[in-house]
Amino acid sequence: MPSKRRNNGRNKKNKGHADSIHCSNCQRLCPKDKAIKRFVIKNLVDASSKRDIEEASAYAEYTMPKFFIKNQYCVGCAIHARVVRVRSGEERRVRYVSKVRADRKEELNKLYRVANQRTGPEAKTERPVEEEEEN
Ligand SMILES: [Zn+2]
Repeated sequence: MPSKRRNNGRNKKNKGHADSIHCSNCQRLCPKDKAIKRFVIKNLVDASSKRDIEEASAYAEYTMPKFFIKNQYCVGCAIHARVVRVRSGEERRVRYVSKVRADRKEELNKLYRVANQRTGPEAKTERPVEEEEEN
């Protein structure tokens, strides 16, 4: 039988069973390997308030606390929140990797895509408000 995805939408491999987790949004039970996981590092306060606080602070080297949140979404919520999107049959074959070998970039570009890649002028500037990492 043809398979929609090469991993059947999961990352279980030969495990047999994966623990269930609750979706961060709707509390739906979802296998841990199927859930869409995003680790979010967010500043507690926005950039302008941060500057005001730092100027008013008595401590010279004070680092503002941050949120470190791991979001685990069920597939329904991840689609709804546009964390992931529906992809065409051909698109589904494209895998996301952290980096591609520089000398074989041309031939690998069809099969792989670099995740969280920053392009254009904003690639050089930092994104201080929100950063996401894929697990
Ligand atoms: Zn959900």
